Amino acid sequence: MTPSHDVVLVGGGGAGLRAAIAIAETNSKLSVAVVSKVYPMRSHTVSAEGGAAGVISPDDSLDEHAYDTISGGDWLCDQDAVEAFVKEAPQELLRLEHWGCPWSRETDGRIAVRPFGGMKKMRTWFAADKTGFHMLHTLFQTSLKYASVARYDEWFVTRLLVDEGRVQGVVAIDLKSGRIDAITARAVILCTGGCGRVFPFTTNAAIKNGDGMALAYRAGVPLKDMEFVQYHPTGLPFTGILITEAARSEGGYLVNKDGYRYLQDYALGKPQPQPVFRTMELGPRDRLSQAFMKELEKGRTIDTPYGPVVHLDLRHLGQKKISAKIPFVRELCLKYQNLDPVKDLIPVRPVVHYMMGGVHTDINGATLLPGLYAAGEVACVSINGANRLGSNSLPELLVFGTRAGRTAAEYASLGLEVTSRVLAQSDDERRRLEGELLNHKGRERIADLRDEMQKTMEESAGIYRSGASLARGVERLRGIQERSSDIAIEDQSKTFNTERTAALELSFMLDVAEAIVTSALHREESRGAHQRTDFPKRDDQRFLSHSLIYRNLDGPSRVEYLPVTMTRWPPAERVYGEAAPNEGQHHVAGSALPSGTGV
Ligand SMILES: Cc1cc2nc3c(=O)[nH]c(=O)nc-3n(C[C@H](O)[C@H](O)[C@H](O)COP(=O)(O)OP(=O)(O)OC[C@H]3O[C@@H](n4cnc5c(N)ncnc54)[C@H](O)[C@@H]3O)c2cc1C
Repeated sequence: MTPSHDVVLVGGGGAGLRAAIAIAETNSKLSVAVVSKVYPMRSHTVSAEGGAAGVISPDDSLDEHAYDTISGGDWLCDQDAVEAFVKEAPQELLRLEHWGCPWSRETDGRIAVRPFGGMKKMRTWFAADKTGFHMLHTLFQTSLKYASVARYDEWFVTRLLVDEGRVQGVVAIDLKSGRIDAITARAVILCTGGCGRVFPFTTNAAIKNGDGMALAYRAGVPLKDMEFVQYHPTGLPFTGILITEAARSEGGYLVNKDGYRYLQDYALGKPQPQPVFRTMELGPRDRLSQAFMKELEKGRTIDTPYGPVVHLDLRHLGQKKISAKIPFVRELCLKYQNLDPVKDLIPVRPVVHYMMGGVHTDINGATLLPGLYAAGEVACVSINGANRLGSNSLPELLVFGTRAGRTAAEYASLGLEVTSRVLAQSDDERRRLEGELLNHKGRERIADLRDEMQKTMEESAGIYRSGASLARGVERLRGIQERSSDIAIEDQSKTFNTERTAALELSFMLDVAEAIVTSALHREESRGAHQRTDFPKRDDQRFLSHSLIYRNLDGPSRVEYLPVTMTRWPPAERVYGEAAPNEGQHHVAGSALPSGTGV
């Protein structure tokens, strides 16, 4: 019999589990399915290190968090969404505390907070540098309390079922048995995370292939702001393993081949004895990654077998502080780089980290397709605009996971019936999968096409792009897309057939890659993480708006624009460093951090 639930959640990461709890709390009679292609605790949320932002100190304010987020996002954030986000983030973080999340504390018992890039107050909660691990555990164990939440661990969703203009479930492969089945539902929430794997060098886990973005895109739902891809300035060369921003917020320096703190040359302020908010190493990620590229052009980076790097210097922090505040950074360096940050410099380079764009939703996670919702990194609400501030994503999962869960629960409570036609659709999908994947004897190798796609993305849509590079990217991706219909699947087994899932993931990634490059080609300006060498200035006249890309099966995708929602913060220049004259009443001139704070 076809499994059936009131709400299906695709994804068991932070957003998915938070949404599941919200649904169970809203209406305990609704049956909820959490469908995840990996065991939930292996979702990418588990690897988040640095922390989660939420106003808690008496000298901080919601308006300041909102302003940092909006200016950090280069005025592309929807300000109503940001206002809701900053208000609900601390409540959500406290709720997590009550569910057992072991936030690090000050010696007097208060929640400890650390500074983070682009923020002018200390408001990033953390659990040492394993924040995502503890948050995901807390959510997972809490979700176990609810009998109404069923889990489909290691089920891979391949398609949304849509009939009568509304979503009515999904088709998924049970990876253990190879069985292909429909799971019907009155509402579906996509919580599938990001898509870093469309690029060759990324901090993202191998499971981050943009599946949910492609599922929605194929169902006619637009993707929003896809041109905005975040590079994190400090990844380990070769592996792409992230060295958390916490390393810089605890006082780490970035130096070039001459040992010079080069960020002082890029309008990010001058070196100070203590780290200063929004200055130098605590500047926003887009600016820091762009500064690296300029250093590379000037020949001031260090060549390694795995590309050019600069150095992250933590040596002056000393072993005690490193072990207390950022133990995982030391562990990663020792294990994967064979060096000890207590006495060695850490080689780092910018690495693709996060997707600002995603499935277009409103402030409650609803998409334009009735019954379909999205939350977490897969969604674009948008609170991140053109550049997300570090530590805003984890609270985003909680705030908008909750909102999407509640809204979907209300919709599912209307009791709309699943139509019989969706079962016929699921039979079609089964035939497609069996024809295209199980028995296909084509000539193209998955790994070759994936490599070509990733190379194309880096060359055409990297930290700096141009009309010419992007147009070339669109063309090359089209070729790869065509070749992908002639893929060879050699493994015919049904149990945990990773070749088959790799083929499905490649097809999702190709759709997402096309959306990124096409959206970037249309945006003829530079804003946040989208830097066009042929249009180096921000152009509020033409582009103070979100891009919406619609998939078109018969021709090029269609790009439209949607105005940004402004409430209280009119567009201004983005200014970092100690002197930030344009921030008006919101600016608190870069005060030095009190020393010895945190645990
Ligand atoms: C290394 C690293 C460190 C980070 N550190 C921080 C930090 O300190 N602070 C911060 O705010 N942010 C951080 N981020 C960003 C943040 O962790 C992520 O944006 C966030 O965790 C994403 O959560 P999610 O619930 O949206 O998705 P994920 O946690 O990625 O979960 C996605 C889920 O979807 C499922 N799924 C996907 N496709 C399918 C499919 N086809 N079928 C079935 N299931 C599917 C997966 O199995 C998984 O359960 C970090 C990111 C990385 C990569």
